Amino acid sequence: MKLVDSHCHLDDEQFAADRDAAIERARAAGVERMLAIGTGDGPPDLKAGIRLADQYPFIYATIGVHPHNAAKATENTLNDLAELESHPKVLAIGEIGLDYHYDFSPRDVQLRVFAEQLQLAARASKPIVIHTREAWDDTLSVIRAHGLPYGGIMHCFTGGPIQAEQALALGFHLSFGGIVTFPKAQDVRDAAALTPADRLLVETDAPYLAPVPNRGKRNEPAFIVETVRRLAEIRGTTPEDIAGITTRNFDRLCLRLQSATE
Ligand SMILES: [Zn+2]
Ligand SMILES: [Zn+2]
Repeated sequence: MKLVDSHCHLDDEQFAADRDAAIERARAAGVERMLAIGTGDGPPDLKAGIRLADQYPFIYATIGVHPHNAAKATENTLNDLAELESHPKVLAIGEIGLDYHYDFSPRDVQLRVFAEQLQLAARASKPIVIHTREAWDDTLSVIRAHGLPYGGIMHCFTGGPIQAEQALALGFHLSFGGIVTFPKAQDVRDAAALTPADRLLVETDAPYLAPVPNRGKRNEPAFIVETVRRLAEIRGTTPEDIAGITTRNFDRLCLRLQSATE
């Protein structure tokens, strides 16, 4: 199996002791590429993903201000992001969005910083990676107001079929993580079942949300195999097929590659 982990936080301090080994385990499990999310602890440091991408040829990066950290953004932050955006391995702007569950930043600030980064992504001709929690309607209205000119990823999709249809109608790819293996997540599995093959992505969100049988432990990119197996069961196909289509989708959306079979 050749896989892409389209969302992982390899910079997290939970990998401080064994980052290289975790990356090696991922490679051994068939993870050929990883997208290192660059939000880190927030501004002024915007290079958490880029540092990893500079170090490993098969790691790519995003840049962006997570909604948790929106209150840390300054005018400089946007200028800095606009400069970093041209780094050759920065594939997307994210994760950006709204988080009304924790409300770590005031909602009006989250909304403003989200909108500013959508504009940045449009200027940069790059897709976006969306984080949304208990803020579905506001997230969709901000996106509707700005459009989705270069596509986007609903990361760690946790909605059901209705939310899936809404996001797909806007042009999003849906990225499924370890939650599809959780017993109670039938609505997420239903969403995974109806997602068209050309809009499906898979991720770990490591170190968070490890799939069964490692649920509750630190997640790492190698564990993506469990999520791929479960997605294959849900969609009545093989893990190899899921690996193939999600890798092609990632390459098309983020690396702008057209595969020979399309
Ligand atoms: Zn997230
Ligand atoms: Zn994340």
